[in-house]
Amino acid sequence: MVPQQQQRSRYWDITITVDKEAGSARAASSNALTPSRAKAFEDEVQRHLKWRTAIIKEGRQDVLAALQGALAEIDRRLAQQPADWQLWHLGRLRSQVAAALGHGAEAASNAVKKALARAEQLGESFVPDALGAAGVQVPRMAPGLSADVVENIASFCTSRMQDVTHEAQQAINHQLSLTVLGVQTPFEATRAIHKILGADGAAMARSERIVRTEVARVYALAQQSAMERAAQVVPGLHKQWRRSGKMHSRKSHDRMDGVHIAVLRHFKVSRESGGGTDKMLHPLDPGAPVSQTVNCGCTCIPWMPGWQVKYPDYKPFSVKEIRVRPERSRRAEKKEMKMSHCPAWRKLSCLIKNYTICLASMK
Ligand SMILES: [Zn+2]
Repeated sequence: MVPQQQQRSRYWDITITVDKEAGSARAASSNALTPSRAKAFEDEVQRHLKWRTAIIKEGRQDVLAALQGALAEIDRRLAQQPADWQLWHLGRLRSQVAAALGHGAEAASNAVKKALARAEQLGESFVPDALGAAGVQVPRMAPGLSADVVENIASFCTSRMQDVTHEAQQAINHQLSLTVLGVQTPFEATRAIHKILGADGAAMARSERIVRTEVARVYALAQQSAMERAAQVVPGLHKQWRRSGKMHSRKSHDRMDGVHIAVLRHFKVSRESGGGTDKMLHPLDPGAPVSQTVNCGCTCIPWMPGWQVKYPDYKPFSVKEIRVRPERSRRAEKKEMKMSHCPAWRKLSCLIKNYTICLASMK
């Protein structure tokens, strides 16, 4: 019999059955992985998720730069106004603000489109890259996600960016009106405008939500498309839901962590409130309600039956995550107890969890 050992992932807490004798008949006939293949797969998953995060981060920075460009232009226009606010020409100033924000909205939309295109490419390449690293070769095909899908999401983003700048425009106009009426000084108006369009302002918060959600959605759609094509040549290919690891994640999504199903099937995801479940092909499924998708950072990874997962329904929470939401520890402990058949391990596990809670409460 071929000796096997368990190799545990540092990142995903996946324990994969590995075959010590690479190239053996058993390895060829099952989905077991050699240690190097298991490591390569995990590294590839991590690499891709880091790229996805980088694309979202860069998209956010580009949108912020677009809004800052509009703010700089508005500052310049305000600086050109006479020192006496009674001489300000409100109508002209308002149209200058509208023009600056119009350019800002266009630049922000272009930044989001660029991020969407990169996310689509990355999502497409994730499945063949990860499976290839695990030794499961999948032929590379032309992008399967319809151009219309990405275009529709891009045009949705453009209209949302226009909404954002339109709201900012109204708020800025209000500040300008207060100034020409003598209710506040030009200095106070400038300060208020910087608050509206600044990095911590409402405009940026909304833009960030759009970038994060829609870029991750295109990535997930492209990934599902690639997964469906791969399933045609890799019998038994599954997809596994992985939670985001965010501090304030949805509890129902945390519970989905580790669940794996056939590629064409839908996950049944509980609603955060009101009871019931929603069917989702993948995280950020456009067919799911907004309450299940906005700001969701969850993802799917390929999963094969021979790749034994030690913790199929959860990934251990970090001390920081438990500190933010202590019930996470109880949930993880409950599941771990249920899964473990060894009394000694159950006891040790309890001790570790209690120690973790203790650490979390001390910080
Ligand atoms: Zn999620």
